[in-house]
Amino acid sequence: MTHIAVIGAGQAGASLVAKLRSEGFEGDITLIGAEAVPPYQRPPLSKAYLLGDMTLERLFLRPQSFYYENNIALRLSTQVTAIDTSAKTIAIGDELLSYDQLALTTGPFRASCLRRPVARLAASIPCAISRTLTRWPPM
Ligand SMILES: Cc1cc2nc3c(=O)[nH]c(=O)nc-3n(C[C@H](O)[C@H](O)[C@H](O)COP(=O)(O)OP(=O)(O)OC[C@H]3O[C@@H](n4cnc5c(N)ncnc54)[C@H](O)[C@@H]3O)c2cc1C
Repeated sequence: MTHIAVIGAGQAGASLVAKLRSEGFEGDITLIGAEAVPPYQRPPLSKAYLLGDMTLERLFLRPQSFYYENNIALRLSTQVTAIDTSAKTIAIGDELLSYDQLALTTGPFRASCLRRPVARLAASIPCAISRTLTRWPPM
């Protein structure tokens, strides 16, 4: 059976796996995310959620049961460390996971605000990162 691995359990990754199932893909799907929580919307982190006008449950794109019910293996707190496209394997630490097709939905994650020129100029000013739910509230 075809196995599609999706690296990056953000909005794009969650949308992709849901679309695969709704379009009738019956093979294996693994959605791998470095964060500890199921895929959620980031925009409210700086808007309704920040103001306290939105509950945590509404932040999640889908309930965790969605992934189970749709036979999507959701691997949270899982950092992919390497990809071998010749062998078609993904390294998760010492573990190797085989795939037939691979999607990268890792977003712009590496571009943290600390790397932006404006942040470098203001290096002495504490920089708040509100990109992720797990680092909430921003420090
Ligand atoms: C505070 C805030 C407010 C925003 N407001 C708006 C807005 O109002 N309007 C708008 O259009 N956009 C907004 N955005 C931008 C929007 O949220 C992003 O465009 C969107 O989240 C991108 O989704 P994505 O799935 O492509 O990437 P991401 O949401 O970045 O998800 C990528 C995921 O991949 C994971 N990942 C990365 N590398 C690995 C790895 N090696 N192994 C496993 N997992 C990995 C990351 O942990 C992350 O969870 C906002 C963003 C933030 C942070």
